[in-house]
Amino acid sequence: MRAAICYEFGKPLLIEEVTIEPPGSGEVKIRIAAVGICHSDLHFLKGEHGPAPLPAVGGHEVAGYVEEVGEGVTAVQPGDPVVACLVGSGCGRCYYCTIGLPNFCEKRRIKRTSTKEFLLAGPGHLINKDGVRLTQHAPTFAGFAEYTIVNEDYLVKIDRDMPIDLASLLSCAVISGYGAVVNRAKVPVSSSVVVIGTGGVGLNAIQAASISGAYPVIAVDVLDSKLEAARAFGATHTVNTRKVSDPIEAVINMTYGRGADYVFVSVAGVEVKYQGLKMSGPRGMIVFIGHSKKEPLTPFDSTDVIGGERMITGSAMGALRPRIDIPRLIELYKGGRLKLDELVTARYPFDQINEAIASSERGEALRNVIIF
Ligand SMILES: [Zn+2]
Ligand SMILES: [Zn+2]
Repeated sequence: MRAAICYEFGKPLLIEEVTIEPPGSGEVKIRIAAVGICHSDLHFLKGEHGPAPLPAVGGHEVAGYVEEVGEGVTAVQPGDPVVACLVGSGCGRCYYCTIGLPNFCEKRRIKRTSTKEFLLAGPGHLINKDGVRLTQHAPTFAGFAEYTIVNEDYLVKIDRDMPIDLASLLSCAVISGYGAVVNRAKVPVSSSVVVIGTGGVGLNAIQAASISGAYPVIAVDVLDSKLEAARAFGATHTVNTRKVSDPIEAVINMTYGRGADYVFVSVAGVEVKYQGLKMSGPRGMIVFIGHSKKEPLTPFDSTDVIGGERMITGSAMGALRPRIDIPRLIELYKGGRLKLDELVTARYPFDQINEAIASSERGEALRNVIIF
């Protein structure tokens, strides 16, 4: 089998023959059918997620088929089509699972007590030709490879008639944006919503706001092409921050002089997070989704937070509950309510993964997907 390996940050990946360990207890071997290129992959491959042992294999927006199951696996069987998630389904018994937040399961295998740990890559199940065990960027599996090993808790079995390439987008791009709006913020009907950054994740925040009955739904970006896509996904207003003299004032004007009820910041950077705070109205909620390497403390004016009683919060993987949310998203897609086909800018064969990454890096793509 082959994997696309990062030997040096900022350099093209090398596609090489590797060996894969058999699935252990509770583990599943997946034949990967599709993997999306996420902005987190781009940050990681440039070394912007902080130090990680190289060589490493990235990729976490994965769908495929169960090839082999390890001892004690009950969730899936060989041949099942599955989506692999970065968040597990939870133990069902701990404090957080019991209150309906399995994404914070206390028994999960990856502790997420700090940003540093959240971004920490770990050793995987792939070994290169020199006998070196490859790090996997995503702590749970490695998607830029023909096969990967995943614990069954991170898998969701999906319907056989769901297009497998579109299914891959659900576990990161779609849920990170959609879940921020629906699961985390729980945006009520007729709220005003701003989404800053309208790439793969931001577009899904926009379509979730639209599905939730928000108005206006304001898309903010620096590229007209992305703002045009945002309109197709349900944005009612757009702001190109490179073309208006004061983007904050533009948003204030579009929200009846009040500022937005909800602002979702789907891109990395301190400035843009501050901008998001300034675009919100009194009692507004600002939800951070995008991140890159350690962002220094954002210089908030505490009078904005206290005086306006604003709430600043985060959304990690859209507060994903895999076995609830992934099937729901598939039903929405089949019912014609959720756009997925329109998210895919291009499909690339595995051999052209570096071209796909370069295209995503240039900001041309909503989502590029590697098809195996
Ligand atoms: Zn991602
Ligand atoms: Zn639990």
